Amino acid sequence: MELQRICLVHYHEIGLKGHNRTSFENRLLKNIEALLSAYPIVTIRRISGRLCVFIKEGTSYEVACEIEDAIAGVPGVARVSCGYKCDREMGIMSEAARMALAEVGDFYTFKVASRRNHTDFDIPSMEISRLVGSYLCEHFPEKKVRMKDPDVKVGVEVIQGNAYVYARSVRGVGGLPVGSSGRVITMLSSGIDSPVATWRMARRGAIPIAVHFSGRPQTSSTSEFLVDDICHVLERTGCIARCYIVPFGDYQREIALGAPPELRVILYRRLMFKVAQRIAQQEGAKAIATGESLGQVASQTIDNIFVTDAAVNMPVFRPLIGSDKQEIIADAQQLGSFEISSQDAPDCCTLFMPRNPETHAKLEDALAAEEQFPLEEWIDSIMEAVEVHDYACPSYKKRRRKE
Ligand code: ATP
Ligand code: MG
Repeated sequence: MELQRICLVHYHEIGLKGHNRTSFENRLLKNIEALLSAYPIVTIRRISGRLCVFIKEGTSYEVACEIEDAIAGVPGVARVSCGYKCDREMGIMSEAARMALAEVGDFYTFKVASRRNHTDFDIPSMEISRLVGSYLCEHFPEKKVRMKDPDVKVGVEVIQGNAYVYARSVRGVGGLPVGSSGRVITMLSSGIDSPVATWRMARRGAIPIAVHFSGRPQTSSTSEFLVDDICHVLERTGCIARCYIVPFGDYQREIALGAPPELRVILYRRLMFKVAQRIAQQEGAKAIATGESLGQVASQTIDNIFVTDAAVNMPVFRPLIGSDKQEIIADAQQLGSFEISSQDAPDCCTLFMPRNPETHAKLEDALAAEEQFPLEEWIDSIMEAVEVHDYACPSYKKRRRKE
């Protein structure tokens, strides 16, 4: 029997009502569609409570699994299952279940779980599971049914006029589709933390626009290449729209030459925030995000956070503030940025570092030290020197530049 191969996309329905629900589904559909352009997909449709990705005829199980794994990383996806669409007729559904289960290969126990969202199909879901289950037992006599924690759960869903049957199913990253929560400027270094912070913002539906401060021309541009690699990782799941690269070395040099050594780091960071805020104004973003985690390094004390935040007039989000390094590393591994971030690169952070940075800076001191620098002029020249790299983010639309 030749059946239509599909991936069935599940999302959490809590809090999704009326108009909200339609825009959530449409946005998720558009995001998935754009990111799957390199795969053999026919179309994606909304079916009640799910999205269904139709895969081209003749596509192998292996490629279908790759498609499934790609979809699982897209924010808003709670789960993806790989299987077949078929007529809602018990014989055909049972055979589809056999085909799907046979493809999974390595397993010992299984169970069938069914769902019927239209009562015009007159077999109750328990009965569907029982019938499909006994057909599978006949065809896989060496496998065992197990209700609790089986190796494979075969899903049979009767939705409107069709049935969707699957065996392989993977968990998605959850969250909200990118584009549902506005734009955020994320401060992206080539370290471990900030890519994870960027990802977490995207997973809550924000469109991240990154800014990276390079030590150039005082250092090489290695960190810029690493940041570009990180952006490509984020791009796979539509989690980054653009990256502004700022050659920052000369400004750090000026600060290092003129300001008290212990205040350098605070002053670099205040200037970085001011530049991020200027980019935010150009991009229509209303917040900044960083990868700071409380107490992790000298500059990440509450006192210092207070002084850096006072440099700008917009909310600064720190999605990792309460996370331990181990948790952040686990996220970086899941995202796929860990290897890249583990490479060493001099960036603006390693440049002109004082021996004893202030851990309890005072705002008056920072303001007084800043007075000697023409910050507004610097920011204007920085904005003229930035380079912008674009990445595929389906929900991002370029704004027309105001003259
Ligand atoms: P990360 O692992 O993200 O590099 P970190 O542990 O090195 O962070 P800091 O150097 O104090 O900590 O940086 C704190 C945050 O400031 C970073 O998470 C990032 O958001 C931002 N930041 C630091 N350096 C840069 C940079 N060169 N360009 C852009 N943002 C930066
Ligand atoms: Mg760093």
